[in-house]
Amino acid sequence: MLGTLARKCGIFGGLVTMERLWEQALGNLKTHLSPENFETWLEPVQFGGIEHDSVILRIPNQFFAEWISAHYLDMILDTLRSEAGDASVPTKVRWELDETLREKAQAARESAPPPPPRAPRPTPRAPEMADLNPKYRFRNFVVGPANQLAHAASVACGSDPGRRYNPLFIYGGVGLGKTHLVNAIGHAILQRNPRARILYLSAERFTNEFIWSLQNHQINSFRERYRSQCDVLLMDDIQFLAGREQTQEEFFHTFNALYHSDKQIVVTSDVYPQQISEMQERLISRFQSGMVADVQAPELDTRIAILQKKAESEGIELESEVALFLAQTVRSNVRELEGTLLRIAVKAELLGLPIDLDLAKETLRTIAPNQDTATTVEDIQRIACGYFGIRLADLKSRRRHRAVSFPRMIAMYICRQRLGTSYPELGERFGGKDHTTVISAVRKISGLVEAQDERVLGAVGAIERKLGI
Ligand code: ADP
Ligand code: MG
Repeated sequence: MLGTLARKCGIFGGLVTMERLWEQALGNLKTHLSPENFETWLEPVQFGGIEHDSVILRIPNQFFAEWISAHYLDMILDTLRSEAGDASVPTKVRWELDETLREKAQAARESAPPPPPRAPRPTPRAPEMADLNPKYRFRNFVVGPANQLAHAASVACGSDPGRRYNPLFIYGGVGLGKTHLVNAIGHAILQRNPRARILYLSAERFTNEFIWSLQNHQINSFRERYRSQCDVLLMDDIQFLAGREQTQEEFFHTFNALYHSDKQIVVTSDVYPQQISEMQERLISRFQSGMVADVQAPELDTRIAILQKKAESEGIELESEVALFLAQTVRSNVRELEGTLLRIAVKAELLGLPIDLDLAKETLRTIAPNQDTATTVEDIQRIACGYFGIRLADLKSRRRHRAVSFPRMIAMYICRQRLGTSYPELGERFGGKDHTTVISAVRKISGLVEAQDERVLGAVGAIERKLGI
């Protein structure tokens, strides 16, 4: 027998209506959760309809069931109930494991299409509406060699906005702390000057608001808000503007208006200004005119410190051998690192076990079964040696002869591109070289790749094909 809700949905067109119901419920939940939690725990979940007296939810792995049951299930069921306007929504959930969701969730996040334009908020905004994430502060940002410069420049912006580093351009890979730093700048400025008018938003939202304003004849108030009523503009993920000529044009004028009135501008991107595809030259040169700082994947000690800080703030007891194991295993991305720690903590709590090495290993095996088979620095080194016909010892040696230095640079470049390993760590793994040596090797090969150098493209392509990446 179908539940009342299912029957009701059936009348309005079956699955489609149910899916809309789920979307509405998600929209509602989104307003109650932090973006981080929403993205991590609810976005990857799929609504599988209603059967008998159960809601079917498809999840990427078992931990979602555990975590969601512990934290969000009541809220989900309540929201479904209120969206359906029906008190008889089933109270049970049937979880269905769907491993493809894990990849899908990741892919969707990486190439998210713009959501339907949202109406901009009324102006002017009060400071507390700056949309800053309250969790992202300087005090809980762990500083290490990989992010030192970006951190120092951010702190300077936070204490003296619009003066020393303007604009500040922070770039680096996914999950390495750009959004955290930018929010922390906003908080620091507000702390000194609670009246500062701070706008924090993604370039995607800027685009959507701009389009909305054009369509609804609100362009003047849009310009007013971004050019005249703003003291600090924090624009996240500027690479979203790639190829969007008209929005770039608008942003260019916004930038100039703010810049000429000494207002602080901070921009983040996943790549260096010149590498942003389809970006107007004049914007690129604006970005480069101030301070450009990168965030790299943190090296081992910083990863350990991040885990410890996170554990402390979440009230998780984390022994140093477990921290070391996790930091050694999850290398490239702080978001992954934090997610792994939380999952282990959830598991420990649910099973009533201590967080020890066994549990950590076991959990990593189940949530990241590919971890063992994932490409490593050693794989890349080995295959590069095979391709060029040199010995591993030569690859890691200090010899500068082109016959070994070229393969070494190629291997470093592939490691950096494909694994996101930090420069200092790559230095270590290539026989204890300085990180600046690695940086210049990677730059050199990047330049040759861009220049379509046939020998480089051939080598990189062949090695990557062998690796199956
Ligand atoms: P990005 O914007 O570069 O993709 P985020 O700023 O969203 O990355 O960072 C991802 C997660 O990792 C966030 O939860 C953030 O707080 C955390 N994080 C990143 N770097 C650090 C760091 N150095 N210290 C503490 N937490 C960090
Ligand atoms: Mg970000």
